[in-house]
Amino acid sequence: MNLQINSLSKEYFDLQVLNNVSFSINLGDRIGLVGMNGSGKTTLLKLISGQEKQDQGQIIKIPNNLSIGYVPQATDFPKSNNITQGLAISLGIDESEIYKIYIALDKLNISNLALKPFETLSSGQKTKVYLARLLIQEPNILLLDEPTNHLDIKSLEWLENYLDSYQGAFLVVSHDRRFLDNTVTKILELENGIIKNYGGNYSFYRQQKLIEFESQKRNY
Ligand code: ADP
Repeated sequence: MNLQINSLSKEYFDLQVLNNVSFSINLGDRIGLVGMNGSGKTTLLKLISGQEKQDQGQIIKIPNNLSIGYVPQATDFPKSNNITQGLAISLGIDESEIYKIYIALDKLNISNLALKPFETLSSGQKTKVYLARLLIQEPNILLLDEPTNHLDIKSLEWLENYLDSYQGAFLVVSHDRRFLDNTVTKILELENGIIKNYGGNYSFYRQQKLIEFESQKRNY
């Protein structure tokens, strides 16, 4: 299994958000995507998950039916009476498989929310609904956009364990240094539309950045 991102470029009006971005995601990859606010991280996830279209470049899935799960930061969820119905719609599940939703909600300790409308949930509860959807989808590649922002300690531990034993590959956007050090083995950094690859966890990446900075200072 392999996802190839080839020379992706994306502009919004005159702003070049991504400029010839290339990398690949392979089976077992645990990648942290970092960069300043506005550097294009969410845009990149939206292109990979097919929610937006690139101006140039290709996204190649091998095999063709490679599944991608997306835990967005925003709150897009199907119009529905409650989260059970909404999850069923977004997963294409019928009555006979509703039990899968109940099992997933239970695993995330949110069975009590099953009949609540999505709009009435807190941000942390919404994230848990997206995580429950992943449990049912079991995608080959997971994309997570700042999943820890609104999670309580228990759910954070749940997520770290879940990712730790994840069979596919994942790419996670986060500013949480501890979370990244616990979960990823590779860092991609977006800066000025360009992507750079650092093998290692977040602490290793910070160390490398410091070395780069010192060397730039000396050259200057
Ligand atoms: P990040 O996730 O790294 O904070 P984003 O991908 O959300 O960055 O945004 C990158 C840049 O693109 C920002 O300057 C943002 O304002 C701009 N942008 C994102 N989406 C749109 C859009 N739909 N229309 C216009 N500009 C956008």
